Amino acid sequence: MTLRKAEKKMEFVEKEMEFMQKCAELADGNVYCRQSSLVEKLLLDEVFTWDDVDNLNEHFNARHLINGNCNDCGARTEIDGDTELCKTCFKETWEDQEIYEWWVVSDWLREKLRDKGQAILENDYGAWWGRRTTGQAIKMDGVIREIAKELLESENTEKPL
Ligand SMILES: [Zn+2]
Repeated sequence: MTLRKAEKKMEFVEKEMEFMQKCAELADGNVYCRQSSLVEKLLLDEVFTWDDVDNLNEHFNARHLINGNCNDCGARTEIDGDTELCKTCFKETWEDQEIYEWWVVSDWLREKLRDKGQAILENDYGAWWGRRTTGQAIKMDGVIREIAKELLESENTEKPL
């Protein structure tokens, strides 16, 4: 391996470590505690209502947009990379996704998650993030990685050269 190649590899490893560190900081500093049983019970007893859950139908997945023809109506437009459907057709076929966990998170993270189309339950008693994954560390969640990546990018552009 040439010196230049070794340097490149080091740079890559450092970047990757910086990114993983950011994901961990984001999760550790903003995700407070899991209250799944509490929220589920209150929803079941109708103290809480599903109507108060924002983004229960996940937004059109802007992460995987590609240009192409919609699989259903055939319109040539931006389509979802997974389903190959345009926004309109996507909405018609989308079913509610299961929420596995409810978490209390910081106000800042809550609004970031809401912007990303994550389920947020908010009422007079508080606010909870409806997590659609389970069984892995929160810092590994796709949406957390996405927010961390954006944070890093904005930090790097703000830094003077
Ligand atoms: Zn369509």
